[in-house]
Amino acid sequence: MAFFWRRNKEDKFSTSVLGLDRSIEELKAQEEAVEKEIGVRFTRAIEKTRNSINNRLDTIFEGRKQIDDVLLDELEEMLISTDIGVQTTMQVLEAIRKGVSRQEISDIDALRAVMKRELLDILQHSTERGVADERSVDAAIKPYVLMVVGVNGVGKTTTIGKLSQRIKNEGNDVLICAADTFRAAASDQLEIWAGRAGVPIVQQKQGTDPAAVLFDALQSAKARNSDVLIVDTAGRLHNKANLMAELEKMKRIAGREVPQAPHETLLVIDAVTGQNGLEQARQFTKVANVTGIVLTKLDGTAKGGIAVAIAKELNLPIRYVGIGEQVDDLMVFDAESYVNGLFS
Ligand code: GDP
Ligand code: MG
Repeated sequence: MAFFWRRNKEDKFSTSVLGLDRSIEELKAQEEAVEKEIGVRFTRAIEKTRNSINNRLDTIFEGRKQIDDVLLDELEEMLISTDIGVQTTMQVLEAIRKGVSRQEISDIDALRAVMKRELLDILQHSTERGVADERSVDAAIKPYVLMVVGVNGVGKTTTIGKLSQRIKNEGNDVLICAADTFRAAASDQLEIWAGRAGVPIVQQKQGTDPAAVLFDALQSAKARNSDVLIVDTAGRLHNKANLMAELEKMKRIAGREVPQAPHETLLVIDAVTGQNGLEQARQFTKVANVTGIVLTKLDGTAKGGIAVAIAKELNLPIRYVGIGEQVDDLMVFDAESYVNGLFS
């Protein structure tokens, strides 16, 4: 996991070798230091969930000599309490029962290993649909258009601020489009983030047709030769027909101006809202043609298992996770670090 946003990265490295200021090694070392630091903060962010799992596991196993039905019932309750979802819980229990009957599982460590294996399996399968990696889009296509959708308050604007900073820091020209024209404050807030990240923003007055703002932004991105265009959208789910029409119009315009755009449509989900958030997400995926998930506020919940429920039930890759309110509190989701983090 050496890079955050890796499209064209190999090319950029070869140009940097050809006589520019920093060597590949220096850049790589710098990236690795950043990733390591983020890894530590990620582990801290899922601490509440991990502690809750470990405490429950210890209690369940206390004074027990064998894995029986009572123990499995308690385990089921524990898994449900982390919000990994009913379907996932059933899959995990099924695997444990099999392991027990084959006498492959007799202690807590073997049991942990099976749980980890099953969760990892679900998370890895979820990358088969949607867009799991920005490198899947032809590198010649510019700008790479990234739409961000989700209900109000989940963290769309904050995520866009963090994303644009990271993507810019890796040497890409980023442009932000403020297509949440529903509330005046939305554009102002995005403008602050754009200023912080030092990236340009295209915005218009409140009430403007979001598709018109997007059209402007697409023209501007082409004129500036931007690498990435990140689009903020309004989060009204209470009027589904409207939202659908609005998103569809935006997509149509994007696709007309840039081949295959939008290349990604990220649905932002607030981890704290747990199963409710998942229900909202289901509704969004029906109307918005979502290609991936950003799970925010993972730092604020003991039910961090929701990532697995999302992957399993929506069958979409989790692309990024938010672990705080600061600009560098965003990381690329890594299934292995996540699962290890839950059970370490
Ligand atoms: P939007 O309505 O979807 O655009 O949501 P905002 O970006 O305005 O965020 C709503 C609130 O959530 C703000 O107070 C953010 O600081 C906060 N927030 C966003 N992401 C995270 C995160 O990963 N962790 C924490 N703790 N707070 C977050
Ligand atoms: Mg917003």
